[in-house]
Amino acid sequence: MTVNAQKNANAIPGVQLSDGFVIPQLGIGTYQLPNDEAEAIVAAGLELGYRHIDTASLYKNEEGVGKAVAASGLDRSDVWVTTKLWHTDHGDPLGGLRASLDRLQLDYVDLFLIHWPTPKLGTAWQAWEGLIEARELGLTRSIGVSNFEIEHLERIIGDTGATPSVNQIELHPHHQHRELVEYCKQRNIVIESWSPLAQGRKQLFADPAVADAAKAHGKSPAQIVLRWHLEKGFVVFPKTATASRLGENLDIFDFELTAAEIEAIDALEGLGESSISPYDMNG
Ligand code: NAD
Repeated sequence: MTVNAQKNANAIPGVQLSDGFVIPQLGIGTYQLPNDEAEAIVAAGLELGYRHIDTASLYKNEEGVGKAVAASGLDRSDVWVTTKLWHTDHGDPLGGLRASLDRLQLDYVDLFLIHWPTPKLGTAWQAWEGLIEARELGLTRSIGVSNFEIEHLERIIGDTGATPSVNQIELHPHHQHRELVEYCKQRNIVIESWSPLAQGRKQLFADPAVADAAKAHGKSPAQIVLRWHLEKGFVVFPKTATASRLGENLDIFDFELTAAEIEAIDALEGLGESSISPYDMNG
C-alpha cells in the first residue's frame, strides 16, 4: 500500500453505529456496474484509500467486488463490505446471505441490509428476524434496512425489539426525507444516502447554491454535494465508472461549508424528481 493510500484512508471519518462498529463515512457505490467494471473500480478505489464498498445481490457484481477485495492484499478487517437481501430471498435470509458470501468469497459481511420493505408482499418483517439470526451466527457484523419509512421501522422494532443500525435511503439536496431522518436520529439509526449526487443530475450541480460554493472553495459541484452529506453526518458511497472521479470524490476532507452555504443547499428540498419511487422494485 502506498503512503498516499494510507493517508487517504486515514482522512475518511468513521461513523459510530449503535452496535459498536464504526463504518467509514465515505465508500464506493456499485449499482449498475457489471462484474468486470465493479472489480476494476473497486480495485482502483482500494488502491486510492477507499475502505468501504456498497453492493447487493441485485447488482449481480458481488463476484467482481470480492475479487478486488481479495486482490487488494488488505486485511479483511480493514475493508467494510455491505450487501443486501433482495425481496425474492425474504423467505430465506440466511440462504440469501450465504449465497452472497459465496459470491464475495468472504466469511462475513460488515453490514447486511433488507433492500426494500416491499410492504405489499408483507415478507420483510419476518426477514428481519433472519437478519438478527445472521448476526448471531457471525455471518454479518451489523444489520440494517434500506428504503424503510417510519411505519416500516416501527413494525420491525415493535416485533423484535431490535433496532436496525442503519437505514439506507435515497437522499440528496432535492430529496431530504427530514421527518424520517429525525426519527432515525432519535433512535441512533445511522442514515446512508443512496444517490447522494442525485445520479449526477445537472439541475443540482448547476444550481447557484452548489455552483457558488464550488467556486468559493475551488471544488467541483460533486465535491460540494458530498461535503454537504458529510456535514449532516450521513454515510455516502457515490458511484462512478470513471476511475479519475474516484480521486475527486475522495478529495473532500480539506474544507468545510459555511452555515450559509449549508442553509442554501438545504433550501433545494423538493426541487427535481426523486430517482426511484419508494416502492419501485428496481431500486
Ligand atoms: P449517485 O448519486 O452516486 O450518482 C452516480 C452518478 O453520478 C455517476 O453515474 C456519474 O454519472 C455521476 N458522478 C459520480 N461522481 C461524479 C463526479 N465527481 N462529478 C460528476 N459526476 C459524478 O447515484 P447512485 O449510483 O444511484 O447511488 C450511489 C450508490 O447507492 C449506488 O451505486 C448503490 O451502491 C447505492 N444505491 C442503493 C439503492 C437502494 O435501494 N438501497 C438504490 C440506488 C443506489
